[in-house]
Amino acid sequence: MAIKLLLHTCCAPCLIYPYSFLRDQGKEVTAFFYNPNVHPFLEFRKRRETLEAYTENQSIRLISEKQYGLTDFLRKVVFQEKNRCEICYLTRLEKTILFAKKLGFESFSTTLLYSKYQQHDLIASLCNRLSIQHNISFFYNDFRAGWQEGVDKAVEQNIYRQSYCGCIYSEHERYDKSIRKQVTKHQ
Ligand code: SF4
Repeated sequence: MAIKLLLHTCCAPCLIYPYSFLRDQGKEVTAFFYNPNVHPFLEFRKRRETLEAYTENQSIRLISEKQYGLTDFLRKVVFQEKNRCEICYLTRLEKTILFAKKLGFESFSTTLLYSKYQQHDLIASLCNRLSIQHNISFFYNDFRAGWQEGVDKAVEQNIYRQSYCGCIYSEHERYDKSIRKQVTKHQ
């Protein structure tokens, strides 16, 4: 019988490759949208609605958290901005596991492991740690191998692709030229 896997999903473009990979592995995948890190509200709604439309079109099962989580997210990261990505990953992964356990899934994974722009090793190690803590299996794969394939398919299907990670800090870093210059200087 197929393993039931809950796949934390950050957005539609990042779901394309991991979903097809997992389906080819014989997993019974349900996507789970929970991303209180995405701001401002119109961007959050756009990513959520894009994913909802995509999954409906592709007949992919989806559980979608509709509530906008700005206030709680900011309360978690304020004064810890340098460490915000780890807090952000943990927040999303812990909720995924709680849902997975509550709904009887046997395993979990995340599309965060697809992105070339995320801290892949940190995400994998947090998943491993949470898997042990909560006694649920974690399916690891380096989905970055399918990065270009996923991008090409998203472009082909004209799926909305965001230009910054999600939080208002990342939006600032993406568009403020003075910050971008500093980042480039230190690379
Ligand atoms: S940069 Fe991305 S991963 Fe880091 S806190 Fe912001 S939304 Fe989360």
